[in-house]
Amino acid sequence: MVNQENPMMKYTELEHIGSGGFGHVVRALNNATGGEVAIKKINLQGLGRKELTVNEIVIMKRYRSSSVVNYLDSYLLGEELWLVMEYMDGGALSDVIHKTCLSEDHIAAISRECLQGLDFLHSNDVIHRDVKSDNILLRTDGSVKLTDFGLSTQLTPEQSRPCLVAGTPWWMAPEVVTGQPYGPKVDIWSFGIVGIEMLEKEPPYWDQSHTSARRLIATVGTPKLRQPKLLSALLRDFLSCCLQTDEEQRWSAKELLQVKCEGAAGETGSEGWAPPPLKFKASDEPPSSSPPLLVLFK
Ligand code: ATP
Repeated sequence: MVNQENPMMKYTELEHIGSGGFGHVVRALNNATGGEVAIKKINLQGLGRKELTVNEIVIMKRYRSSSVVNYLDSYLLGEELWLVMEYMDGGALSDVIHKTCLSEDHIAAISRECLQGLDFLHSNDVIHRDVKSDNILLRTDGSVKLTDFGLSTQLTPEQSRPCLVAGTPWWMAPEVVTGQPYGPKVDIWSFGIVGIEMLEKEPPYWDQSHTSARRLIATVGTPKLRQPKLLSALLRDFLSCCLQTDEEQRWSAKELLQVKCEGAAGETGSEGWAPPPLKFKASDEPPSSSPPLLVLFK
């Protein structure tokens, strides 16, 4: 499953990008092409670590899309697995959320891109199960992509409604925290929580322990927004479609794209919430060499 060559000959490490629960990520140069890549170095020691890593590689290799961070290669170096993927130079949405105030137009545009990724995964019977702003990466050309597939699951005819409690507590759907069998719409709930993160900088119950957060998700249902009156009716309606406690009532990624996101399929819906093209500068400005999304990081 992994490449047997020596990755040290192929890549030159440039800088440490960040650390996660399983290891760290570096930016590196592909010596042959001169292109930049991100290498996630995963320490395989630890309970369940190998299974999660294999899962991540299998899903990334199998499902390639412009809305999913692209898998490039993988290598095993002793107890460390190197997962080489495309480098997302804008970093994680969570960083952007903390460094800037996103307008409704930005939120709409980012939402549309994420929903395209979720629609792609769900159409292939994959549930991501860990949708949160940390796992949404940006590029300064405006691309927005889903990443971190360690917890994702491939549905099969035999296992079409899992009930394993998986994910990050504050983002989990009610049916997950209560241990009910669930389907792809758990990702839509989590994505609705990302919508709240984009508005309020943190998910509901962030000040609570994960046990309390799970209890509150199970009992409160749809979380209350802090300042709903400051939002447009279209954005409130969009969030409400994502955050329906009843899975049946919750919209699918496809439905949200078709009805609530203008321009998702090259169409202009009259009642949809209307994200602009994924540009953050006025469209009549001449093309500039500075990437549009950079505006967000200042
Ligand atoms: P965990 O894996 O435990 O959920 P995490 O998501 O914070 O933790 P990683 O996925 O290991 O950790 O990522 C570490 C850092 O590297 C994060 O800041 C993340 O945004 C960044 N990163 C991950 N993949 C890429 C990539 N392809 N391009 C650019 N930065 C990336």
